[in-house]
Parts: sequence; structure tokens; C-alpha cells
Amino acid sequence: MSFSLAPLPYAYDALEPYIDAQTMTIHHDKHHQAYVDNLNKAIAGTPNEGKSIEELVAVAGTISPAVRNNGGGHWNHTFFWDSLAAASGAAPSGHLAAAIDAAFGSFDEFKAKFAAAGATRFGSGWAWLIVKDGKLEVSSTPNQDNPLMDVAEVKGTPILGVDVWEHAYYLKYQNKRPDYLAAIWNLINWAKVAERFAAAK
Ligand code: MN
Repeated sequence: MSFSLAPLPYAYDALEPYIDAQTMTIHHDKHHQAYVDNLNKAIAGTPNEGKSIEELVAVAGTISPAVRNNGGGHWNHTFFWDSLAAASGAAPSGHLAAAIDAAFGSFDEFKAKFAAAGATRFGSGWAWLIVKDGKLEVSSTPNQDNPLMDVAEVKGTPILGVDVWEHAYYLKYQNKRPDYLAAIWNLINWAKVAERFAAAK
């Protein structure tokens, strides 16, 4: 029993012009595939073989750096692909929009806080919108850690995650991570985020 890489839920060029097809192809077919392959190697023949990715991630800090990094890489990227959709002009609505306003003051203030979390994450990592104790919070994690992990500084249930590793944006945005983080708002699958929010509450 091993993990496998699902296809992207849309075409490689579906996120153009904000994320280019070449970046998506390398990111999914090479980077995400490598996390899956290395996770499978790390658990092969161990008691962790056969556990779900959620079970592994929850105790990642107690297993091994290989499971923490590659299990996190697999979970995070699967979550990231589903967090995005072709640009549609959509924005949060209903309960999610109300919760964002309540937690951050406004949608614009939320976006600024999220972008700052991603931009100030030194090196590689992720920016997150999480549900913690029934409320929304913005956080970030290093490397391939995530808020579900035992080792996370801020724990919670992620409802949106954005990859801020250079491999996610370098071909198009080079060193300009803030430009990538500004463009990503065109691509958020708010219906999916709302569905996760409803499930997390
Ligand atoms: Mn990535």
C-alpha cells in the first residue's frame, strides 16, 4: 500500500496568466511526484506503511524528518491544487465572508495579513488560513510543515494554503514573491475554501 500522485484537478494552463503552465507542470509532475516517491520510500516496510496521510502528518514530528518533509509535501500540495481554480472573479460569500470580516476587519485586511505571512516566511514554506478554536487565523509554516502537524507552532484546521517556495513562482515572478502573492487572489477556489470552513467549524 503506497501513496500515488493524483492528476491536477484542472489543465496545466488553467491558471494562466497568473501561474504559467510550465511552472504547474514542473511543480506537479516533478516536485509533488518527488514528495510522493520519497514518502513511499520512507514508510516502506515500517509500521507506518498503510496509515493515511492525515494520520502520518498528525504525528510527523515523532516519526522521521523524511516523513515530516515528504508527508507534509504530499498533503500540502494536494491541498494547494484544490485551493486554486481558473480565474473567475469570485470572492468569499456567506458565512465565510462574514467570518473573514469578523476576524480581520475586512476582506482587504485579511488579504494583506495573509500576503504578509507569506512574504515574511524566510526561505521556503507556506501561508495558511486556519480555523482555530472556531475562529479564523492566518499563520505560516516553514518547509513542508503544516498546521495539522504536532510540530506546528500554530495548530488548526487549514482551509486555504498557499505555497511560497521559489519553485511555485520563480519562472514567472523571479525573486518577486509579493507579486506572486498579489496575483494568487485571482485563483482562489472560494467555493472549496467555504466547504472546508463549513466542515471545520
Ligand atoms: Mn511546492
